[in-house]
Parts: sequence; structure tokens; C-alpha cells
Amino acid sequence: MQGGCTTEVLFHLIQALPEHVTTGQTRLVRLWPFAQQRTRGNAAVAVELNTEDEEGLLVFLDNYWRNSILPLKGIVQTSQHSDREQFPSDPGMVWFSESISDPDIYRKGLRQEINLQQLPIPTKSWGGHGRIGATLAVLWPVRESTFEAIAWREPSANELRQLDKHAIEHIDQMEGTFLCRDDRLGNSLLAPRGVSPVLFGIRAWKRDVAMEALQVLLDAPNTEPVIGSLVFETNQATNDHLDYSIEGRVERIEVLRGGHTVIHASEQRFLAFKESGQIATISQQLHEGDVIECKGLVAPDNSIHVEFMRIQELVPDKHRPSCPTCNKSMTSMGKHQGLRCKKCGFKMDDGWVETPRSLPLKQWIQPPASSRRHLAKPLDDDSSIQNNL
Ligand SMILES: [Zn+2]
Repeated sequence: MQGGCTTEVLFHLIQALPEHVTTGQTRLVRLWPFAQQRTRGNAAVAVELNTEDEEGLLVFLDNYWRNSILPLKGIVQTSQHSDREQFPSDPGMVWFSESISDPDIYRKGLRQEINLQQLPIPTKSWGGHGRIGATLAVLWPVRESTFEAIAWREPSANELRQLDKHAIEHIDQMEGTFLCRDDRLGNSLLAPRGVSPVLFGIRAWKRDVAMEALQVLLDAPNTEPVIGSLVFETNQATNDHLDYSIEGRVERIEVLRGGHTVIHASEQRFLAFKESGQIATISQQLHEGDVIECKGLVAPDNSIHVEFMRIQELVPDKHRPSCPTCNKSMTSMGKHQGLRCKKCGFKMDDGWVETPRSLPLKQWIQPPASSRRHLAKPLDDDSSIQNNL
């Protein structure tokens, strides 16, 4: 299912299921962020439903679609990213009678625009564009996954979110949770910014940790009441959207108005966003001849949006030696003519002084937690990233 506040729609659907249906693990799958008709968060959800009465289930889904999901069509979601065009949601739902997975199409759907014709045909489907994400959520082969516990607010709650601060601190310290806090800003990433029915999302490497943390926060005295919660298995923090890394020799650096940096390399362009922290500051200090290795998605304009960066080679800083008397920089008198001090006339042989640069070599860096893609795996929490990159 994709469209609307997807996770909450699935929660309500599961609540309403007929008694003869049992549910398996719920899934939350992040998709290609550049998709033309993406919704906020660009996510799709799926769940395995088991029943002896598939026909009865399909009648239920049909009615549920018409009465509860279809009315969401056309609602434009607001977002804190006002620079991006927001499409009205065009929800979609698919049903596959048999479980099905397809690693190739799934990965394709994370890296490029994909259309319905490229996807397997479901047993039954409802709605529009959202069927694409919904199908990808079903096809996800789950080779690697993380978990997110999500709880939704009561419809009457509209003032500030109330989350128990002590419980958040406790969860943040728990072994196995991640992205709960942005160390640089010291704020909590548990709660979405802007208007959302989601009260919080707690991310964890394992299901039991997500469930335990969820209970801690729900039971805490200063957490507001919720309508319910679910633990989703997700492709967040798996790097599933990334392929091999791309190396480039820097030709020039261009800082755009607005603060983003373009690294023009011999064969490609890398884009480092202003918000990417160390990646942005280091990009601006690169020189012609430096060699970098990056991982990131290829945007529709063919630039690579840098999510991971490692400097492979740094060209040393070269400058002329200084005059031993005046301490001023010597000047070349022409090719093979030697150097001369303009002030006192002292002469010496042609030469350069090289000073090493102080940028980190052979070390992966990534943006701060709050500016990472949902799909990006944190470097600090998992040493396996070195092998995956
Ligand atoms: Zn001199």
C-alpha cells in the first residue's frame, strides 16, 4: 500500500480485519527518493495476511478500499521541504495470493523511476500510482532489515507532541537503537517534524529491541496517549539503494548559490548538499587532482548525490620557498631561470615547498543523522559498512 500517511492507513486496516484473517510481519519500505510522484517520506507498506477464506478477505479489502482509503486520494501533503513539489496522494493497494519476491526489480525500484508495466501483476489491485510502491514492498526480498516501532496520535491531539524526556534518553542509551538522536544538534529524531499523525518512530537493529523501547516510551508518565502502535520491518539503514562506489579525480569545485557544492570530476559530477556537514565542508576544500570515492544515488540530471565520501588521494599544497632574509615568498624568474626575492634580490634554484593537507584520508564520512536518507546505513553503528562499501 502506498499513499497518505501510509503506516497509519495500514494500522487501521489491520484493526478492521475480519476475524478469520491473521497477520504476519508488517513492512515499511523506503523507495527511490527522486520518483516523480513521490509522497512525503516516499514509503510503502505491506503485510502478510493469512486466511482460509481468500474470497471473503477480498470482499473485505474491496469495501475497505472504497470506504476508507479511496477518500484519501488527492490530498496534498505538506512537508518541511517546501522547495519540493508535492504531489497529491494517489493511493494504491495490491494483493498477491502467493508470497513473491524479486531482488532485481526491488533494487531497481530504489535506484530509478519504475512503472507498472515493469512489475509483476498482482492477484487484485486497487487505485493508482501507489500500486508501484505497494508492489515493491511485497517484492522486497528482506536480505537485510532493521525495525521501526511507530505509534500514532489520537485524532484530537493537535498541540505539541508530548514525549517523555527521560524515556527518550533511556531509549537513546539502549544497545541496538539507532538514529534516535542527532548528536550534533542534540535533538530527538524520534518525532517527525511538521504535521503528522505519527507520534514517534523508534529505530532498532533487532525486533525485540524495537518492541522493548516502544513499551518504555508508551509506559512513560509524560508520553501522550496513542491510538495504537506497530513494529515494522524496514529497509531503512540497509544501504539497499546504493551500488558500488564511484571514484573521481577532481577537476574543479563550484559552490552554488544556496551553499551546495558541485565537485566536477573527470567523468562525473558529484553534488554535496549544504546540509551534509563534513561532506560539504571537505568538498569545498578539495583541489584539482585530488581523488575521491563516493556513494550516492544518481539523480535524474546524472549528478551523484553524495551520501558517503572517502578521500583516496590528496595533492599536496605547493608553494615557493621564502627568502631566508625577508621571509617573503620567492618569485620565479621564468622557466629554468631560478627564483628571486623581489625585495632584496636574493636568488636561489627553482623549487617548490610541499605541505601536506589536513583533510581525512581513506576514511568514510557521511552527513549528520538528521540529513541522511532513511535508507542510509549509519557508519558509526555498524562496522560491516566497511565491507558493504
Ligand atoms: Zn629577500
